[in-house]
Amino acid sequence: MVHVRPSLIGLQSYVPGRKVPGAVVLASNECPYGLLPSVAARLARLTGGLSHYPDMGAGHLLQALADHHGVTPDRVAVGAGSSEVCGQLLHTVSAPGGEVVFGRRSFEAYPILTAVAGGTAVPVPLRDHVQDLEAMAAAITERTRLVFVCNPNNPTSTPVGESALRAFIDRVPEHVLIVVDEAYHEYADPSVVPDALALFGDRPNVVVLRTFSKAYALAGLRIGYCVGAPEIIAQVRKTQTPFSVSALAQEAAILALQEHEEVARRVARTVEQRERVTRELRALGYDLPASQANFVWLPLGQDSTAFADHCLANGVIVRAFSGEGVRVTIGLPEENSAFLTLAETWRPAFT
Ligand SMILES: *Cc1c(COP(=O)(O)O)cnc(C)c1O
Repeated sequence: MVHVRPSLIGLQSYVPGRKVPGAVVLASNECPYGLLPSVAARLARLTGGLSHYPDMGAGHLLQALADHHGVTPDRVAVGAGSSEVCGQLLHTVSAPGGEVVFGRRSFEAYPILTAVAGGTAVPVPLRDHVQDLEAMAAAITERTRLVFVCNPNNPTSTPVGESALRAFIDRVPEHVLIVVDEAYHEYADPSVVPDALALFGDRPNVVVLRTFSKAYALAGLRIGYCVGAPEIIAQVRKTQTPFSVSALAQEAAILALQEHEEVARRVARTVEQRERVTRELRALGYDLPASQANFVWLPLGQDSTAFADHCLANGVIVRAFSGEGVRVTIGLPEENSAFLTLAETWRPAFT
């Protein structure tokens, strides 16, 4: 019998959103508007080059990202989705017994990637659906290597504000890497959700994570990145699986970055729909936190799975976290309407 790492045996696998042919999918926080048209056209032309390896250093993309953020390219590292970049960051700092602090619940990849990197997860309960930065700071020990702050938080949709984040970063010792995961940055109101790159990008122990999977509509191509101090970024790059970012992903990301206007237009529609869905759910009697992302969180507790089953039985896939709540992605207006109708028919069952 092969000796398997004990830390993997009891580890829960990542649960991807379900796929059911013909169903409305509001389970994975994807962009409902499809590929950006210019990206789709470019990708169709690029497939002939796929017999060759991509640029392993992703030089053009790094330069484009550096220009986009007004930093030097040595401050940027890319990966096959920001999930891979999370893993790279963990591998960069992890050591046997090294602790990794994050909110619970937060992004479900954190505990998995932590275990795979050989770290010890230290989940810290949320407070009123918000990451409790004071409790997270208090959970830091001399064994702590990394802290994830997911802002706004997946799956609860809530942000931490600038003053709380600043106090937290000031309090965390410099040997601990603080990873601010801003996967939903584009959907957030800048007056509510701080831009960690602009505010704390100069700190030697702060790295900001961004992705092309959400607002840039490239979830299927797998491309994400982080921005941090050159010293840490140089090490993070070593941990990337060679050639993990495909040539198509690199080209698509460069082009998508140029599409600010179309991306902003789509984001505005999603934000408008998010406010509509929130308003209508509240009018139906649901109690939900204000969202800063492209999804809403229904803290339905023990009813969560039954609610998701009710939706699934009627052709709408949402994401239940058993015993906690349901995460519902903001889709096209008519998809949101279909969901709201189901939320309305469900209501008598829990009031
Ligand atoms: C969706 C998401 C990501 C992005 O994942 P990719 O690997 O880039 O597709 C990262 N962090 C959080 C919190 C997310 O919700």
